[in-house]
Amino acid sequence: MKTQVSITDIIARQREFFNTGTTKDIDFRLKQLKVLKQAVSENQEAILQALKADLGKPEFEAYGTEISTIKEIARAIKHLKTWAKPQKAPVSLQFFPASAQIYPEPLGVVLIIGPWNYPFHLVFSPLVGAIAAGNCAIIKPSELAPQTSLIISKILQKYFDPAYINVVEGGVETSQQLLAEKFDHVFFTGGTAVGKIVMEAAAKNLTPVTLELGGKSPCIVDSDTNLEHTATRITWGKFLNAGQTCIAPDYLLVDRKIKENLLVEIQKRLQEFYGDNPATSPDYARIVNQRHFDRLVNLIDNDKIRIGGETNREERYIAPTVLDNVSLTDPVMEEEIFGPILPVIEYTDVREAINFINSRPKPLALYLFTNNKSLQQQVLQVTSSGGVCINDTVLQFGVSSLPFGGVGDSGMGKYHGKASFDTFSHYKSVLHRSFLFNSKLFYPPYQSKLSLLKRFLG
Ligand code: NAD
Repeated sequence: MKTQVSITDIIARQREFFNTGTTKDIDFRLKQLKVLKQAVSENQEAILQALKADLGKPEFEAYGTEISTIKEIARAIKHLKTWAKPQKAPVSLQFFPASAQIYPEPLGVVLIIGPWNYPFHLVFSPLVGAIAAGNCAIIKPSELAPQTSLIISKILQKYFDPAYINVVEGGVETSQQLLAEKFDHVFFTGGTAVGKIVMEAAAKNLTPVTLELGGKSPCIVDSDTNLEHTATRITWGKFLNAGQTCIAPDYLLVDRKIKENLLVEIQKRLQEFYGDNPATSPDYARIVNQRHFDRLVNLIDNDKIRIGGETNREERYIAPTVLDNVSLTDPVMEEEIFGPILPVIEYTDVREAINFINSRPKPLALYLFTNNKSLQQQVLQVTSSGGVCINDTVLQFGVSSLPFGGVGDSGMGKYHGKASFDTFSHYKSVLHRSFLFNSKLFYPPYQSKLSLLKRFLG
């Protein structure tokens, strides 16, 4: 009951602050973005340590995928004035004399709920958009990355007024208490099943949502490809963060002609990346908790292990594992894997691969390795996914000019770069009419005016 009261209170204080109009000022927003950048910069060490404690995250990966938020903040600082400018809109003749503009305005008090796999970046990155667009924000980091949740809370409390940016730590119950409140937007990153719960709760308050969800992202490997580079890029994208990446290639659909050679190359790459025993590699992460460890171990069919398969429950270690001769109905093909297990399925005709993808929920990412330009076009045209990366994996996430998000079961709404600003803004349409001239055409009495109106609109 105590938490409930304090959550209500936190939101009420933020609403009060928002209503002062302070956050609408562009200079205020720029100043806060600079504070955010400084906050990340000054606390890098503590953030890296928290990520190590929660996920055994190698420093290089943590720096490249989490601390890298700094770059996103810098970009928002650079472009904010342009993004926030009202845009002119054309007005057709019948409204003469008039002009039209579209004004971006902040939504108000927003809630950001984060997952555990990139627990720092996936709350700070939307926060950049929320601040840039002039909102107050409440952050609910994932309880499954407790050290990172704690450091996020400490940092934001130290650098920001809680009436402007605040953190509420906690698990499912806390999340549900927050969701029972009225917000002006909920930005959620997590699983598809929880996404439905979030949307249902938000609907009760008519709160709009952005849902950054997951799913199984397929990776097609055509025979006309550079096998060495293909293997390198798949191995990196799959086993980064021990496979706990929403846009990791979930499974491979490989042309039968090159499957054996591709598997040999992937094995070589794994050896190069993590040595003979990945358990001792400083560059290989751990599974977040024992529940997920057990879930993943259950997905490994021992008869189908081609590479890896070793596990250690105490250390939450699962070796990079490749499963061969996987059937489409195996349990590993039924749910999002979200771990270092790569099932390989072969095809004879690429249409089999495409049909399979199209028979499943729309994925967050789709990967295609091929030099064949017409196949590239064909796959782009006949499949639907949140995004596509041709001849590489995961990198599309880092291109700030590409809005990032899912479609269908993989989510709704987009962010990154300008798209983040848009997500947290309302675009207000404004028509200015002038008193210069007043046509009587549209006013009653309508008698004898209909034919004129028809001519005008025709
Ligand atoms: P999750 O859905 O279990 O949890 C996400 C957040 O929701 C957490 O903060 C958690 O406390 C809260 N939550 C959990 N159950 C809830 C409930 N019943 N009601 C209200 N709130 C609840 O997700 P996760 O396990 O942290 O993350 C893994 C999933 O997230 C994967 O499916 C992955 O693909 C997806 N993901 C997507 C993206 C993306 O950008 N699209 C990024 C990372 C992860």
